Amino acid sequence: MKRALNIQLFNSMGRKKEPLQLRVAGQVGIYVCGVTVYDYCHIGHARVMVVFDTIVRYLRACGLKVTYVRNFTDIDDKIIQRANALHIPFQQLTETFIEAFQVDMQALGVARADREPKATDHLAEMQQMIDNLIRKGLAYPGGGDIFYAVDRFQSYGQLSGKNLAELQSGSRVDVDTHKQNPLDFVLWKKAKPDEPHWPSPWGEGRPGWHIECSAMSCKYLGESFDIHGGGMDLLFPHHENEIAQTEGSSGQPWVRYWLHNGFVNVLTDSGEREKMSKSLGNFFTIRDLLAHYPGEVLRLFILNSHYRSPLDFSSELLDAARHGMDRLYSALAGAKKRLQELPVAAAAPLDDTDWGHWAEEMERFLVAMDDDFNTPQAIAVLFEMAKQINRLVATETASVQEISQGVQLLRQLAALLGLLTTDPDHYFHQLTSTGLGDADIDALIQQRLAARLARNFQEADRIRQQLLEAGIVLQDAKEGTTWRRS
Ligand SMILES: [Zn+2]
Repeated sequence: MKRALNIQLFNSMGRKKEPLQLRVAGQVGIYVCGVTVYDYCHIGHARVMVVFDTIVRYLRACGLKVTYVRNFTDIDDKIIQRANALHIPFQQLTETFIEAFQVDMQALGVARADREPKATDHLAEMQQMIDNLIRKGLAYPGGGDIFYAVDRFQSYGQLSGKNLAELQSGSRVDVDTHKQNPLDFVLWKKAKPDEPHWPSPWGEGRPGWHIECSAMSCKYLGESFDIHGGGMDLLFPHHENEIAQTEGSSGQPWVRYWLHNGFVNVLTDSGEREKMSKSLGNFFTIRDLLAHYPGEVLRLFILNSHYRSPLDFSSELLDAARHGMDRLYSALAGAKKRLQELPVAAAAPLDDTDWGHWAEEMERFLVAMDDDFNTPQAIAVLFEMAKQINRLVATETASVQEISQGVQLLRQLAALLGLLTTDPDHYFHQLTSTGLGDADIDALIQQRLAARLARNFQEADRIRQQLLEAGIVLQDAKEGTTWRRS
């Protein structure tokens, strides 16, 4: 797309919109905090992944060479607890849920990142950084652990916009007597019985959570790069601590733009907002939702709110997204019929094509996306285009060129959001289809295995039943699960 780069983005560091100015012209490095792999992903994870996938798509469509890094946290307290409860090695648990994550992301149209590093593969890099911090006087040992001394890092609190005193008054009283300051955080934990551990200069142990993102982002993107993203819940303390670690170690400015997406709220029947949580029983995994809605509908639902706003979640709102998706595909189906199968190039990169009548729509879409990735406004343009296409299809005198250009542009713009990626026939078939292909069956078997590992036997039984109703019989054996059609 030959167009001057004109993106404005909201930088959490400083809390204002700024023009995107790259360190190296034409290139962007972006790091996003990924998931802790001990359970299925929920709608909150879906949001952060879809949001940053869309941002990366748009940066690429603007002609930038993007390096996108997204990690897996594959060692932490929750992973160890879950694996110990199941009497399995922690790697078996994490590998299962990395696999489940990839299946979910594929269904949501989220592309693989260029690098997907795992924490346990980067212990040497983490230890190197911790060693730097100790040598610079920013970290200290206590009770066999290594802690970061936050009051020795001058700009601690800059991202969250608070000074040390404010942060301290708001923090819970910490019972760890080895810390010099309650806000100090652990970089390396001494090994405990029944926990995985690795050798280090400070004895056997494992890394604290924050250090992995600092070490892995520097390894793959360098000690300074452009964009760091994640959910709003990570801004403090995780991202504040990441900055202290990385800049404390390198002595250089680290990240230019900090992007944070908002929370997901569940709307109750009485219209009140509550936080999604397992204990409230309003917790939705991506695969719960995929059983009822195509992944593209979930994607439309997520992108229909601006990424920084709270996202309200309810089945009514999901149904509305489903109807919206139907409307877009109906317009494509109508045009296809009218054009008698005129071939349509889907998802080709935008170029200097003369879009004639449609140039204004394209401009409005791009202006919306340039404005801090305003996807709801961009989606509104898609709906207007669908309406216009319907009108043209119903008009005897409309020109074939005008309709086919509208269809092509609609598909190309929607593809920048990861939408309208399939054929309308396939989309509507998918909504009614009950037949399962081999790949669907394998994915369901994988989901059932993950459910069993998560001790969610109800879900495992539900999947077995779903397969049985589709005429698929499972056979469990030591070597794994096989299936046959009944
Ligand atoms: Zn992180």
